[in-house]
Amino acid sequence: MIQKGYKYRIYPDVIQSERIAQHFGTVRFIYNTALSMRVRYYEQYGKGISKRAVQDQFVALKKTPEFAWLNTIYSQSILSALEHVHVAYQNFFRGNAQYPRYKSRKNSWQSYQMPQNVKVDFDNECIQLPKIGWIKAKLHRTFDGEIKTCTLKRNPAGQYTLSVLVETPDTLPVPPPIQADKTIGIDLGLKHFMIQDNGDKTDNPRFLNQALPRLRIEQKKLSRCQKGSQNYQIQKNRVARQHLKVSCHRNNFLHQTSSWLVRDNQAVTLAFEDLHVKGMIRNRKLSRHISDVSWGRFLTFVKYKAQWSGKNTIYCDRFAPSSKQCECGHINHDLTLDDRIWTCPVCHQTWDRDVLAANNIKRFALAEASGKMGECPVSV
Ligand SMILES: [Zn+2]
Repeated sequence: MIQKGYKYRIYPDVIQSERIAQHFGTVRFIYNTALSMRVRYYEQYGKGISKRAVQDQFVALKKTPEFAWLNTIYSQSILSALEHVHVAYQNFFRGNAQYPRYKSRKNSWQSYQMPQNVKVDFDNECIQLPKIGWIKAKLHRTFDGEIKTCTLKRNPAGQYTLSVLVETPDTLPVPPPIQADKTIGIDLGLKHFMIQDNGDKTDNPRFLNQALPRLRIEQKKLSRCQKGSQNYQIQKNRVARQHLKVSCHRNNFLHQTSSWLVRDNQAVTLAFEDLHVKGMIRNRKLSRHISDVSWGRFLTFVKYKAQWSGKNTIYCDRFAPSSKQCECGHINHDLTLDDRIWTCPVCHQTWDRDVLAANNIKRFALAEASGKMGECPVSV
């Protein structure tokens, strides 16, 4: 069984949009109320309140006349909001996340979940949501399997998408053993998006950079509009659309490149550097470029696509001196970022630094995968 996600644009009419907005608002209200309930309980009793106790409080709340309107909202969505608070708390106490924050009405992204009862009609191109009804949809792709959780989102440009998680009857193929001659090393960079150990380079399209001039003009126009006026809303929408366009182009590129890398390749193992992109974004000079290039998302795409087609992904330590160390073991400590090509003083091989990095990533990752750490001379 594989779980696959499908995302569709949906086109609710005015009444349906209104109903959806009520769901966004209610789910946010439930989330925030449950959060403050937990905070107060902890302050009073010095311990966490159980999931069950929070649920019982809301069941009681629904029965009061003041909160009777909660019954017009899909109850499973309310339960999943309670679940979200619970999970957010667990993640915080395990040290995996920050303290959960309240959700804001002003957030330009709104969403809510439906754990079941969503129906998809491919013949008539529409989707049925509980308590909302049948909504027109663009069903560009069909699927086989059981619908699990669905998430409805509204983006800053006011467009709606439904993400459908489907449990398909397929099973994951078993990947073959990792072999050095069927492995390619891949270095991810800023100048070139991707460099393979055989010297192939893929350009970095820099979508944000391309869009920046236009974005700055629209942003400036927005700053001249009177806040809250109708023109302000129209212009705000225009800016949101521009941003959306950049992220669509980028996603499309990441999907195409990752599919191509996984499918149209003789290699059965792909080796990457383990990037801690989030840590790198703190470098403010490079942060815009690094978030534009989206290596993290790319690696996520490659990983699941490799799993689906029975291929391996392996990683090497991010501190490996990947562009400084010659194959013979000599480390060129004097190498600067401007040195694109260098010759090893020990074995006299000439290296393109990016291709060398890809080669080293392959060597180090293979060594780490086989557990022979001694063969991987990593110096920090
Ligand atoms: Zn050398």
